[in-house]
Amino acid sequence: MRLCGWVLRSKVIGKVVIVEVSGSSVKPYVLVGKEDVDPGLYNTLKDLPLGSAICFEGEPSETQKSKRGVEYNVKSVKVYSKPSEPLPVELVGKVPSLLDTRIKYRWLLLRNPLEKAIFKVRQSVIEAARRYLIENGFIEVHTPKIVAAGAEGGATLFKVQYFEREAYLSQSPQLYKQMLVSSLPRVFEITPYFRAEKFNTTRHLNESWGIDVEQGFIDGLEDVLNTLENLVAFIVNYVRENNKEELETLGVELPRISTPFKRLRFEEAIDILRSNGVEVQESEDLSDQAERELGKIMAEKGHDLYFIVGFPWPSTGFYYMREEDGYHTRKFDLDYRGLEIASGGQREHRYERLLEAMKLKGLDPSNFSFYLEAFKYGMPPHGGFGLGVERLLMQMLGLSNIREAAIFVRDRTRLIP
Ligand code: ATP
Ligand code: MG
Repeated sequence: MRLCGWVLRSKVIGKVVIVEVSGSSVKPYVLVGKEDVDPGLYNTLKDLPLGSAICFEGEPSETQKSKRGVEYNVKSVKVYSKPSEPLPVELVGKVPSLLDTRIKYRWLLLRNPLEKAIFKVRQSVIEAARRYLIENGFIEVHTPKIVAAGAEGGATLFKVQYFEREAYLSQSPQLYKQMLVSSLPRVFEITPYFRAEKFNTTRHLNESWGIDVEQGFIDGLEDVLNTLENLVAFIVNYVRENNKEELETLGVELPRISTPFKRLRFEEAIDILRSNGVEVQESEDLSDQAERELGKIMAEKGHDLYFIVGFPWPSTGFYYMREEDGYHTRKFDLDYRGLEIASGGQREHRYERLLEAMKLKGLDPSNFSFYLEAFKYGMPPHGGFGLGVERLLMQMLGLSNIREAAIFVRDRTRLIP
């Protein structure tokens, strides 16, 4: 077979040369050249500078001695490119401890098994999500990323000059995916979100990716919670089964996930926090700190993943369905070990009530007429969620900073590379 990659490490021990090549698998290919068996090959391998781009013809050896990768019996080597300068970062062994260096040189550090493992798992997350949703009758759609109005209001939007008008980068496909359930009963989109807050946390990016789902003809919130818990369980278990080498490389033990996830009423979460001495406001979203504390308490009870259901109206977007008391909504969060990984809920599908909700939230319905129109022609009861890809990856792999889960990072200070 023919395999390709980059020379990661090379070692000469007397008449034997061992070259590790970083290719598409997590662990490197190990090429062994022996002077007395094939002097030509021995010399070629010995003279390869670190970082060279090569392909080789060979088969896996019958005897596998290396723990670092799979050994190949090599027939021939073709060199495609040699570095014109020494590499700017160390690519073998442990990745650099400075996150800044990792982010700057990620495109090169992806030759390192640890970095590669993270992004191979990310690829599996996307693959699993797509597979699960398509198998369950969801149609994949793409909605615009340049938009005229945001789902949550102005402060968090990036402005874009759109010919003679002002436009924004989309912070969520919320409005569009809702419009689509007026003709497609189940839709999903895997999409970037752009958020303009000046975040300075380990859990926020300014450009992040979400798995967004909207489901029509629901009988209530439970239908949405079921879809999300089954999706997350499918993704985690898929990674567990299909990324054994990556998880081993990263030293991650991923427990099998089973459903249903625990459902906590918002007030229950507040009570639990207060009885553990954490101060919280009853009408606001939970702070990062409160979420983390709740995560510890829930972990002790054996719950890594749990829903918080029924957020109060003052803390939510206008589009969530309100209960008859006018105060509680059908909005929920899904938390994974103390971090919100998804938000969602049942939406208000009744035109008059939606209009009223918008006004209550201080929004001008005339800016949303394109959206509101979709509620006039047989909009079914519906609900959905946005699941953060980097947040999910971060919690699955125990990464301490969300920046470790994005190849090219967009945050307050980074616009390149
Ligand atoms: P938070 O309260 O943690 O700032 P949010 O409630 O504003 O997040 P949502 O609008 O609910 O976020 O977005 C849906 C999901 O998308 C979140 O649960 C999260 O997983 C992910 N997400 C949202 N904003 C970001 C961000 N800035 N960086 C990374 N992931 C994000
Ligand atoms: Mg949220």
